[in-house]
Amino acid sequence: MIPYGGQSIDQSDVDAVSNAVSHAFLTQGPAVAAFEKKICSVTGGKFAIAVNSATSALYLAYRALGLAKGSLLWTTTNTFVATSNAALLCGADVDFVDINPENFNLSTADLATKLEIADAIGRLPDVVCVVHFAGRPCDMNEIYRLSRKYGFHVVEDASHALGATYQGETIGSDPRSAAVIFSFHPVKMITTGEGGVVVTHREALASRCAQLRSHGITRHPEEFSGDLKEPWYFEQHDIGFNFRITDLQCALGSSQLGRLSAFIDKRRAIAESYNELLAGLSLELPLMDDDDYQSSWHLYVVRTSPDFAKRDRLIRELRDGGVGAALHYIPIPYHPYYKSLGFSLSDYPESEKYFASAISLPIFPDLAHEDVRKIAKAIRKLI
Ligand SMILES: *Cc1c(COP(=O)(O)O)cnc(C)c1O
Repeated sequence: MIPYGGQSIDQSDVDAVSNAVSHAFLTQGPAVAAFEKKICSVTGGKFAIAVNSATSALYLAYRALGLAKGSLLWTTTNTFVATSNAALLCGADVDFVDINPENFNLSTADLATKLEIADAIGRLPDVVCVVHFAGRPCDMNEIYRLSRKYGFHVVEDASHALGATYQGETIGSDPRSAAVIFSFHPVKMITTGEGGVVVTHREALASRCAQLRSHGITRHPEEFSGDLKEPWYFEQHDIGFNFRITDLQCALGSSQLGRLSAFIDKRRAIAESYNELLAGLSLELPLMDDDDYQSSWHLYVVRTSPDFAKRDRLIRELRDGGVGAALHYIPIPYHPYYKSLGFSLSDYPESEKYFASAISLPIFPDLAHEDVRKIAKAIRKLI
């Protein structure tokens, strides 16, 4: 089966990891700091806190922004459950905004309407987490305008969008966002096996994330409240987890980062081929890049007419033929856990239609052009 996504590993990656494994530090050694520095230079962020997953990174950013019992986070319905789960784990409440059917990102028009209502009843969100779905940036100018008007923090879940640009600027570079999260799971833009990072321009937020990454402990004498300054001494100032990433993983990450733009070029070329090969069918094809929106092409999503039975059959037949078609995402309010919290998909009509019509086709740097043709041919035959 051709999977929908996957990593690209070459000999330089193997060499980087095998070098790192014989160093004195296996975890929290020099490779972590070196990787964080590279992430800053690639994204245009000022501080980077690398951790063991993007889920951990989301949780850290939310905690550092003060999300707790009584707080409220809004995000899109069309994301991986981690985006909202991390806020629930902070004790906060969550709510969802429907999607824009053209780009499958959170609808800024719906966001504006929902904010107006929330303002009137005095229950505005503390944080709005936007997700650059499939790697295509959200309309950030409008989101920052609303953030100034209503006073919420903007977090970007950029798990799909390492290397994407909005109006010519890299995702991660805009100081108007409180924090930008990237994932290094193998299907994402680059991999560290498991891994993620918080990128921010705010020093206080960065140091809080760094402290929470490791049990809420500080080893910086200038932060100690006690008098002890011994070299073995440290203090716990907050309650945190072990979210640390290892040197081995960061050695892999640094090696992978060197090929990020080649990976994105390859993904874009695959998307362009699909758009040509699938033209003229009764399928809605994704928006292509323009000057303002340069996607990192994590996913390639096509839409049939909204009809569960028809769409499900198409995915099944593709899979029977060895093409690992999939669905991104099951709208969060549809999951039984979220239903048990009182959410209902029928409150999000565009998400409901999307759920009945979307198909993700394979796209990843090592996907051969021949396979792209084969997949397109299979779809032509089935439709
Ligand atoms: C992959 C993903 C995550 C979670 O990333 P992990 O590194 O697997 O924890 C969160 N949000 C989105 C949008 C993702 O695609």
